[in-house]
Amino acid sequence: MQGYDVCIVGGGIIGCSIAYNLAKRGLRSVVIEKNALGSESTQAGAGMLGAQVEMEKPGALFDLGILSRALFRDLQQELKELSGVDIELQTSGILRLAVSEEDRRSLLDRREWQSAAGQKTEWLEDDDLRKEVGDLFGSTYGALFLPKDHQIRAMAFLRALVSAAGRLGTVFLEHTELIGFVRKGDRIVGIETNNGPFAADAAVIAAGAWSGIVGKMAGLELPVFPVKGQSILADFPTPVTPFTVFTHGTYMVPKVTGHLYIGATMEMAGFDKTATLQGLNRLLSDAARIMPSVGKLGWSGNLVGLRPGSQDGLPFLGQVPGLDGLYVASGHFRNGLLLSPITGVVMAELITSCTPRVDLSPFRVSRLW
Ligand SMILES: Cc1cc2nc3c(=O)[nH]c(=O)nc-3n(C[C@H](O)[C@H](O)[C@H](O)COP(=O)(O)OP(=O)(O)OC[C@H]3O[C@@H](n4cnc5c(N)ncnc54)[C@H](O)[C@@H]3O)c2cc1C
Repeated sequence: MQGYDVCIVGGGIIGCSIAYNLAKRGLRSVVIEKNALGSESTQAGAGMLGAQVEMEKPGALFDLGILSRALFRDLQQELKELSGVDIELQTSGILRLAVSEEDRRSLLDRREWQSAAGQKTEWLEDDDLRKEVGDLFGSTYGALFLPKDHQIRAMAFLRALVSAAGRLGTVFLEHTELIGFVRKGDRIVGIETNNGPFAADAAVIAAGAWSGIVGKMAGLELPVFPVKGQSILADFPTPVTPFTVFTHGTYMVPKVTGHLYIGATMEMAGFDKTATLQGLNRLLSDAARIMPSVGKLGWSGNLVGLRPGSQDGLPFLGQVPGLDGLYVASGHFRNGLLLSPITGVVMAELITSCTPRVDLSPFRVSRLW
């Protein structure tokens, strides 16, 4: 049986970030992925680092997002040097448009608590916005500009992590599916896969929307569920908006590849990943309400992914009580790309018996039991 320090189940952005951080600490991990690396929720991600735009209230998730967002600049440099891959970090900010009087009030309130928390925010009235971008948008009730909410390209980021971790000794096995855990008393000592068993001192469940299913194999009740997201890629040869534009649920993210990413639906459809005309149609009409010219752009493609949801909207990060050597990092829902750097760091700290730099009690695995 091949032996590793750690077996990581799931080759999405979370599993790969944990592998990279473990490798930097000198541990040898194997990442097993039942399909291709990054081929599930990660490939569908818009790449927004929305530590402010995605958070409606202060709390542990907001704090975690701010910490994680701050890691990207150094990570970009570090990964470029190790892997040669550019994660395409764009720092032009995110504009959150107010679409009603109520929306405006709630955004002004958000501006207040985020500013009080030391985060940069700017308020633009509709007239100011028109001075900046002309008639690009329909009429608004003003907009909250968040200059520090950046973006990356999801698959470039994944490739950079895989390549860098690989250079540091991590083994990545695609088309390798976990089918069970190997236990010795109340300790995990390895995993069973369709390609044979692997011995390990620890295992991490980072299987995205499938983490509940994987958890059951260890007798663990892990309430992670799939939330389907559909999005559209339009050709966007001359960027008319330098920044990401966001309203309730719908957003447009200009990519350096010349695409405009228009996302995303939120659907409870189990594990079904069918792209539906209804979903795409709703997305387009919502986008056209924000930016009327969007319908004239060329069609480039569409993406579908299953976000790993959790009942309270928080990820599960930590060790499984009563089962030594088993860890969970899942349930990152709409913000797994944003949260992947800090997740990788704190999970590596936990696994190597260091005190995590973040209080992980709000994210503990047993909190909903
Ligand atoms: C449309 C859309 C837009 C999004 N936009 C953003 C955004 O702008 N910013 C942001 O931060 N986040 C965004 N997200 C969310 C983000 O993509 C996810 O939170 C993140 O990708 C989750 O990563 P993960 O590694 O947990 O899951 P995944 O990427 O789904 O990876 C889990 C992996 O585990 C594998 N697996 C499952 N079971 C097994 C098994 N038994 N054995 C082996 N492997 C297994 C799966 O095949 C999968 O590849 C978006 C998501 C969607 C769908």
